[in-house]
Amino acid sequence: DAERLISADKRGEDVDATMRPQSLDEFVGQKAARANLKVFVEAARGRGEALDHVLFVGPPGLGKTTLAQIMARELGVNFRSTSGPVIAKAGDLAALLTNLEDRDVLFIDEIHRLNPAVEEILYPAMEDFQLDLIIGEGPAARSVKIDLAKFTLVAATTRLGLLTTPLRDRFGIPVRLDFYTVEELQSIVTRGARILGLPLAGDGAEEIARRARGTPRIAGRLLRRVRDFASVAGAGEVTRRIADEALQRLEVDALGLDQLDRRYLSMIVNNFGGGPVGIETIAAALSEPRDAIEDIIEPYMIQQGFIQRTPRGRVLAAKAWRHMGLQPPKDLAQ
Ligand code: ADP
Repeated sequence: DAERLISADKRGEDVDATMRPQSLDEFVGQKAARANLKVFVEAARGRGEALDHVLFVGPPGLGKTTLAQIMARELGVNFRSTSGPVIAKAGDLAALLTNLEDRDVLFIDEIHRLNPAVEEILYPAMEDFQLDLIIGEGPAARSVKIDLAKFTLVAATTRLGLLTTPLRDRFGIPVRLDFYTVEELQSIVTRGARILGLPLAGDGAEEIARRARGTPRIAGRLLRRVRDFASVAGAGEVTRRIADEALQRLEVDALGLDQLDRRYLSMIVNNFGGGPVGIETIAAALSEPRDAIEDIIEPYMIQQGFIQRTPRGRVLAAKAWRHMGLQPPKDLAQ
């Protein structure tokens, strides 16, 4: 659904970029991860060595790309960026790798979508900073080794489970990102409003933060949409009431769930009595790709305790029934 307001995917990233924090100190939240990264960056800088390979894991929109850029900036090196599905052939990756300078950061987003032939050549590159390439075909084919600069691979994935074990094992610094608290999002929204030149009251920022599904990217989008409403309505300062009106008109509910989330929940209630129901069945019933459901809808539902994943499929928790204004079944665990 291309128009989905709160989707956490990357459409419109050009506007997001204005709000990207530029340093680890400016980056809000993810305190433990940030503290660790700071130590590793300082150590690598001190030794004049490339930082160990870093893997960021977490739902879309939590700041993986932003942190990768910050890493490069704090290391004082070049930042090159690509993504798993974009690298079609081994040769494409070879071209990228051979252009890197010592200690550069190569960022690969969605690394779980790398094709296996490409992944093969990444292993020796990460481990020994060497490319093993086969040149030519048939009896004339020969293998050549090319030395690479000692670079840092920073990769991002929404789901660790989709990575092969050998790839996962080659990252010295795995970092898991969690959903943000309302307070953290409030400070991100406040900072964003300042950058946009939007007068935003504290309670207005809090309202947007509460409805941003723990996700900075969504917070940024909601802020822009609220700003549109406020300027059309001729409102001066954006208060809670104005933010709430705007978000209601956008059909973002009190917990930040939108139409697609509600369709997901009501479909499980109406068609499957609250579950258990398998992910493939859900995807078919919603006519949405399974990946999108697992990446964008479910992580927040799970974090909120709305659904449970069981071996037999998804089961709605009592909290989800109540959120829809329904009485949960008696036998359902509370
Ligand atoms: P991911 O790569 O995990 O999908 P991004 O790094 O692209 O997420 O972040 C999405 C947007 O959210 C960024 O453009 C940035 O404006 C904002 N953002 C992410 N994390 C933070 C943060 N900790 N503080 C402020 N803004 C953030």
